[in-house]
Amino acid sequence: MVPITYRCWVEVSRRQLAENFHAIRNAVGPGVEVMPVVKADAYRHGAVEVARVLANEGARWLAVSNVEEGVFLRQGGVTTQILVMGDFLPFERPALIDFDLTPAIHSLSQLADYDRMAAAVGRSLPYHLKLDTGMGRLGLAANPSLIVETIQSCAHVRLDGLMTHFASAANYESPQTASQIVEYRRVLAALNAAGISPRCCHLSSTIPVAYGRRDAWGNMVRPGHAIYGYVSPARGNAPAPVLNVHPALNWKARILQVKELPEGSLVGYGGMFRCERPSKIAVLAVGYADGMNHRLSAKGKVIAGGKLAPIAGAISMDLTSIDVTDCPPLAPGDAVTLLGREGNLSLDAQQIARMAGTISYGVLCGIGQRVKRVYF
Ligand SMILES: *Cc1c(COP(=O)(O)O)cnc(C)c1O
Repeated sequence: MVPITYRCWVEVSRRQLAENFHAIRNAVGPGVEVMPVVKADAYRHGAVEVARVLANEGARWLAVSNVEEGVFLRQGGVTTQILVMGDFLPFERPALIDFDLTPAIHSLSQLADYDRMAAAVGRSLPYHLKLDTGMGRLGLAANPSLIVETIQSCAHVRLDGLMTHFASAANYESPQTASQIVEYRRVLAALNAAGISPRCCHLSSTIPVAYGRRDAWGNMVRPGHAIYGYVSPARGNAPAPVLNVHPALNWKARILQVKELPEGSLVGYGGMFRCERPSKIAVLAVGYADGMNHRLSAKGKVIAGGKLAPIAGAISMDLTSIDVTDCPPLAPGDAVTLLGREGNLSLDAQQIARMAGTISYGVLCGIGQRVKRVYF
């Protein structure tokens, strides 16, 4: 491998992404299509590169949140089908067509607009219809006969998928998922009775896949988190996970300076850290502008020289100090691990999220623009 000449970077394992994708495929079996979610720059793993890996491994669909993310994939040479899940505004309509993106449609009036646009361009445009089955966020919650009627009157567009999203999939004490499945099926049955059979039926993100909730799979699933190697813990009486995936990303930063400070010295903004003994403090080339959550100040840890080293005091915009008194000798230029595995120690996004009082998704998506990416 070429020596890495970055101050702060993530290393993404293509092989691990591929293995996670295949683990998900094996878990759901051949009758269920896996549509990996690569929104938010593939949870900061790098959308185009991740999309290429997954397409190479056989993914036929990818999901993004918005039109711009879909365009970005197309410009990067991605040719799979792309579902835009997070709604679009009138000014984004032309790009949907120009870049061959399939939108999720969230209301019957939006469907009628989409139909008029298809008529105007003289092409049959595909869409997935998103039902609000009880999450109370995006999607339509109209009565099934009105949905059927509108679908039938929109002759210039093709219903290619019927989807919904769960609000409480990780909570096995909640009846909400079961009731959302019932509601989804009620609408699907009405469509079927009217002779309408959407090709892709999908409800599940990572959690219902990982915990083997088969009745929530339909014939397509939309995992994001699991592609990147994460499954959040479930609450309540959850069955054992059926999925074994591993994180694909390590996040590192280099030491800029190591200083010996006498007992009683204060470190960083607000003097939040006080050396209780003669201490060695290393200053890292990473700060909250790079995504080191400010709430890790005086709470977080990193792996330095194969040992856990506590964050000393406040995280600054561009710098973070750590206490390396108990670590093997370290010098400027040495790399420490902020997230990932080093030797037999590991710090994953879930552990970091607990220390920072956030969620693992937030830790990954928080990795900043300034952090370089290396693929291996
Ligand atoms: C983000 C998202 C997903 C993927 O969720 P994970 O929990 O990361 O698997 C699936 N479906 C929709 C609608 C989403 O917004």
